[in-house]
Order: sequence, then C-alpha cells, then structure tokens
Amino acid sequence: MRLDGVHHVTCITADAPRNVDFYTRVLGLRMVKKTVNQDDPTVYHLFYADEEGSPGSDITFFEYPGARRGQAGAGMVHTVGWRVGSDEALDFWEQRLGGEVGSVLRESGAVTFEDPEGLRHELAVVDTSDAPLVAGHPEVPAELALQGFDGVRAFATDPEASRPLLEDALSFESRGESVWEARGPNRGGLYSYDNPPSEPGVGGAGTVHHVAWASTMGDHETWRERALSAGASPSPVIDRFWFRSIYFREPSGVLFEIATLGPGFAVDEDPEHLGESLVLPPAFEHMREQIEPVLTPLPDPRAATRIS
Ligand code: ZN
Repeated sequence: MRLDGVHHVTCITADAPRNVDFYTRVLGLRMVKKTVNQDDPTVYHLFYADEEGSPGSDITFFEYPGARRGQAGAGMVHTVGWRVGSDEALDFWEQRLGGEVGSVLRESGAVTFEDPEGLRHELAVVDTSDAPLVAGHPEVPAELALQGFDGVRAFATDPEASRPLLEDALSFESRGESVWEARGPNRGGLYSYDNPPSEPGVGGAGTVHHVAWASTMGDHETWRERALSAGASPSPVIDRFWFRSIYFREPSGVLFEIATLGPGFAVDEDPEHLGESLVLPPAFEHMREQIEPVLTPLPDPRAATRIS
C-alpha cells in the first residue's frame, strides 16, 4: 500500500484576481474549479491544474482577502516543486517569468522564483517515467509546460522527529538526508526538509496551508488508521465532493492531508468547461443569490487561452 505522490498543494492568497492571472495566464495552468471555502462561503477556493484536473498537478488557493503577507518558518512548506521536461523549458520559463515576477534564479537544472505574493516555486528537469501532467495554453508549447509536482520542501528543526510517521505509517521511502519519496503505482512525490530560518513562520498570503498525498479510495481508511497508530490525530474522513480527505499534522508541524484519487473535478461539471462557472457545495447551493454578489470579481481564466 503506497501513496501515489502529491495529490494537491493548498496555499493562501490575499489577492484572488492577481492569483488567477498569475497561475492561468503566466504559469499556463488551467483553472479546473472555482468554488468557495467550505468553511466560509463568502471567499473563494480556487483550483489550478493540468488540462484534465489531475491529482499530481493541482495547486489550490484559499482566498483570505486583505491577509498580510506570510513567511515560511519551521513546520511550514517553503517551496513547491514542479517538473519540466528539458533545459529548453528552463530557458523558456526563465525568460517568461523574468517579465512577471521580481527575481528569477537560474541554477543548474532548475529555475526558482516567487509568485506575486511571495510563494516560492522551483521548476526542475526531472528524469522520470511518470506521465507529464500538462495544461494547454497558446503561449506555452506543450513540451515546455509545467508537468505536475515533483514535491514540496519544508522547514524543520528536527527532521528525525518525523521519520517514524513518514516511513512506518505513510510508507515514504528515504531518498537521502532529510529527503523522502511517496511513490505509488502511478506517481512519486518528494518531501524534503531544510534548516529553518531563525525567525518564526507566519501564516498568511503567499504561504502553503497544507500538502495532500494521493490515496486510492480503497486504501483511504487504512491510511487514517495508520496515522492514528503512529500518534497523529487524524480528522474524520471529510467528503470534499471531488475527493475525500483526512487531515493531520505531522511531527515537524506541516499539515498533511490524505486525499482520494477520484471521483474528480468532472463529477459536477462538464470536463470541457471546468472552472468556468462558480460551483457551490450542495449545502450552499440554496444561498447562491446571496453568495455570488459578495465574492471578489475575477478575471476570465480562459482569456489567455481563447483564440480570438
Ligand atoms: Zn486539501
């Protein structure tokens, strides 16, 4: 029984319109679901992914309007890693991002940058047989596009404290000092720790809220039992409609989720039109007329991809 890599990464934005513009127009991802926070339906939960809305490519944002800029510290994910196919892809992104974000760092085999709110990303050429998870965008040739997550990097003061949960309960495999991989039948995702900065972390805009690892529907309850027996305090199984979720904090402090592969984003929308209209959880559908007017107006996520 293995987790199938990263399912999704959920982050925080204080500026939803700019967030839509950056992740769709600039990074070339597809908005695959536009919905509201299931705990507060007056703010968005926005999902970007490949063309199919596949687990392994899905970065999501809770909208906290007006939230101050956060800063990753111990117990927080500080970098989201993505795969690209070649050094030519790194050349492309170095140039494309150069006009959009503050600074773009090109190193051997990787490009790192921060999104407009300070969330750090790394694009890396990765040798893998995992399927590339790519979105269509007229300015981003498919062979140069982002290909899904490679993993996440977090800050931890004592990575060894997390080893028993990662290895014994979650079956992550050690891949070197403070690096683990969750590799299932279809995909793998890396989880690494770095030494934290001296300042404590501050949640807020531009920080990662949690990272979700992918489980089959059949294994889901067993992962919960395993987390429980390793000393974690998992939530009950929560039905998120597009997948089911279990949450717990791992010993280094990062909030983990185990999310199911399926049923998927097409369960309540035509796959051809994912993310184009506001989808409300069933419990909030009767409030649509009250909710829609209070939400932040967003740019058309397909504007950049529509051929005029
Ligand atoms: Zn999640």
